Amino acid sequence: MESWAQPYLPPTKFRLPPLELRDSYSGKLVQIRDGGIYVCGITPYDATHLGHAATYLSFDLISRFLIAAGRKVNRSQNVTDIDDPLLERATRDSVKWQELAESQVQLYRDDMTALRVLPPDHFLSVIENMELIISYIEKLILTGKTYSIDGDVYLDISLVEGALENLPLSNEEANRVFKERGGDPDRPGKRNPLDTLIWMKRRPDEPGWNSPFGEGRPGWHIECVALALSSLDKKSDFSIEIQGGGSDLRFPHHYMTGVQAKAITGRTFSSVYVHAGMIGLDGEKMSKSRGNLVFVSDLLKNGVDSNALRIALLKRHYSEDLMWSDEKLTDSEKFLERLKECLSRQEVASTDDLIKNISQALAKDLDTVSVFSLLESWCVATESGEKGGNAGELSRELDLLLGLAL
Ligand code: ZN
Repeated sequence: MESWAQPYLPPTKFRLPPLELRDSYSGKLVQIRDGGIYVCGITPYDATHLGHAATYLSFDLISRFLIAAGRKVNRSQNVTDIDDPLLERATRDSVKWQELAESQVQLYRDDMTALRVLPPDHFLSVIENMELIISYIEKLILTGKTYSIDGDVYLDISLVEGALENLPLSNEEANRVFKERGGDPDRPGKRNPLDTLIWMKRRPDEPGWNSPFGEGRPGWHIECVALALSSLDKKSDFSIEIQGGGSDLRFPHHYMTGVQAKAITGRTFSSVYVHAGMIGLDGEKMSKSRGNLVFVSDLLKNGVDSNALRIALLKRHYSEDLMWSDEKLTDSEKFLERLKECLSRQEVASTDDLIKNISQALAKDLDTVSVFSLLESWCVATESGEKGGNAGELSRELDLLLGLAL
């Protein structure tokens, strides 16, 4: 499906060090070789809240760094435009689910454009790729590792090498989280509680698609497997370089995507798993059920500068949760003004070392906390009259690497 406009990326004369990102399962730093990146996208019914913005900004920074370092970037992102929560919301609001999805995807595109997030190379709708997804389900069924219960197809997790042995949680925790996040560990007839649904037979009053295994729709994980492998698989030791999304996808979604992909290809799915932290509000978890979501479009409508929004979200490490507050936004607005004021001076403190240090901090698992403290020190030096820097050059680097249009 159509994505959104690509913001201008200024050229750089600086050489960047290799990028290392921390794998969220092993905790180890992994050097990134190229940019085969799959980022799990939105289910279009509550776009775009600050949690979404924080996640997609993290992957925007990764893409920006790799592009600036001269690496080839190939990024796919899906839109889960058929899913239980979307159907439930459409029924609640008495609208067609297709119309709800379309309007929310457009809102998401507008918000990403306003935030100057780089568009993915492949922006992939599930319903537009249904035939492709069904062909991957056929591949999985051909491995002999699936079984069916009343027309619903499941993958037997015990038949995928290492899948049960390497769970990132204890068995008990895994069952609990699996259930909490859409799984059905207690369904009678399942061989293993953690077997994942691959194909769901059409339910009354729900949409369905024709397939060799009856009318229905795919399970969530296999959609991402099909979209990622078809657009990015480099057929080496890993299918893709980075699998990313919010930390709520760490288990079961990303783990099970890896298991299903391995069942099909026989190879490890992703070299590294990168998970962005969650955003809370005034001491509480931000969630649909609490009704305390903060939307990017509301903030922008109220005159918030998208650069200030970027700074507020990038001032903490991407993997950490952030408690959002008006104060955080005000602090970022103040810092933005200060930075602009310094950059508009005729004489500024030295910038060459600053730019190198910023690149080095970003190369170490996107250490944006250090980046902003380096910028603060540079402002102090500039305000105290230090000279020798090039404000234009710094401005272009902050645009290229951090997406700040100053
Ligand atoms: Zn996904």
